[in-house]
Amino acid sequence: MAFVAPAGTPISPLTFAVSLARGMGSSAQIELGEGLAAHAGHGRYWLISTGRAAMVLALQAMRDVTKDPQRMEVIVPAYTCYSVPASVIKAGLKPRLCDVDPSSLSLDPQALRKVDFSRVLAVVTANLYGIPNHLRQIEAIAREHGVWMLDDSAQALGATHEGRPVGGFGDVGLYSFDKGKNITSLEGGALVASHPELSAALDRRHSALLATSATRTATTIVKLAAYATLLRPTLYGVVRKLPGLGLGRTVYDETYPVERYSGTLAGFAATLLKRLPELTRGRRDKAAALQAELRNVPGVRLIDVPQDSQPAYARYPFLMTDAAQRATVLEKLEAAGIGATASYPSALCDVPEVAASLPESDRDMPGAREVANTIVTLPTHSYSPTNLPNRIGHVLRDVLR
Ligand SMILES: *Cc1c(COP(=O)(O)O)cnc(C)c1O
Repeated sequence: MAFVAPAGTPISPLTFAVSLARGMGSSAQIELGEGLAAHAGHGRYWLISTGRAAMVLALQAMRDVTKDPQRMEVIVPAYTCYSVPASVIKAGLKPRLCDVDPSSLSLDPQALRKVDFSRVLAVVTANLYGIPNHLRQIEAIAREHGVWMLDDSAQALGATHEGRPVGGFGDVGLYSFDKGKNITSLEGGALVASHPELSAALDRRHSALLATSATRTATTIVKLAAYATLLRPTLYGVVRKLPGLGLGRTVYDETYPVERYSGTLAGFAATLLKRLPELTRGRRDKAAALQAELRNVPGVRLIDVPQDSQPAYARYPFLMTDAAQRATVLEKLEAAGIGATASYPSALCDVPEVAASLPESDRDMPGAREVANTIVTLPTHSYSPTNLPNRIGHVLRDVLR
C-alpha cells in the first residue's frame, strides 16, 4: 500500500545527476557554504559531517574563547532532538534544560529569564519543524547575560522571524542536511558565524578535523540514490517495513564521528539550496492546507507561530489534548498510509542518559512533557497528495467524536 513518508525532500533523477556532477567538481562546498552564510547574514561558514558534529565543534569553539573556566553549562530546550544534549555532553560540557512553551514549542522566554546564568556558556534554540522560536527575545536574554547563543536551524532553513533568517540569530547558526531536513544530502551539517574570535577558534578546530572517508561517502551516495527513489509513496509503503533501516526511530547516541563534510555530498545540498525558495513555498502551501482543515477540528490544538514569522515547515505539527487519543490517531493515520509521527518520544528530562547529567532542578519540565505526550507531526513534502488534509480531518473527527 502507498505510504506518505513523514518528511523528506524529493530528488528527481535529473536533480540527482546534476547534484552528483556538481559534487564531483571543485566548487560545491564553496557554493553551499557561501550560499548559507549569505542566507543567514553571516560572514563565515564551516561544513561538517553532520549537524550534531557541527554542534560539538561550535560548543568547543565557544569554550576555547571563553575565559571563565566555570562556564561549562549549555542551556537546551527541554523538548528538542536528542542529538542536542548528546552534542553538549560529547563536547565535554553540561546540559541544562529550560522548559518549552507548548503553545509555540519555543524555549519559554519567561522560564529562560529565571535560569541562573552564573555558569552558563551558551543557549541553544530549537526552531522545531521549521517554526521560529521567540528568537529576538532569546537573543536579548543571551546578550544581557553575556553568554553565547547557538541558533539551531537544523529544521528551519528558509524560515524567518521579524524579517531575519532563522539560523542568523545569536552568534552561530547551525544547519543540517540529514534525511528529514529542509534540504538534504542524507547527512551533513554547517555552521555560520561572524564573531572574529569565535571564527578563529572554529577555523582551528575545523582544520584539525579528518576528512570523511571515500568509502563512507560512496556508501552515502548509494543510500541517497535509494532515498531519492523510495521516498515516493508507492515505494515507501514497501520499504518502511524493512527491518534494520531504523526509519523514524529516535535513540540517544554520542558515538558519532566529528569529521569534515564530503565535497561530493555538498553537490546535493548546493543544488537543493538553489531551490530553497521553491521548496519552502511548497511546504508552506501544504502546511496552510493542513491548517485550514485542522482549525475546524475540536480537540486539535494548533501551534502559535510567533508574530511576524514565516515558518519553513519541515513538518506540520499540532497538539492533541490526550496521549491515549493521540495513540489511536497515529495508529489510524498509519493504517491509512499517512506518515504521521509522535516526533521525539520524551522530554529530555525523561531521557535517562540526559537526566543523569542534569541538576535536580532541571528534572521536571511540564511544558516539554506535555508536548512529548500530545504532539503529532504531519508531512509537508511535495509527494504528499492534495487530498491529505481531508483524509487526516476524517480520521481526527472520527477519533475525537
Ligand atoms: C537533526 C537535528 C540536529 C542534528 O542534525 P544531524 O545532521 O541529524 O546530526 C540538531 N538539532 C535539531 C533540532 C535537529 O532536528
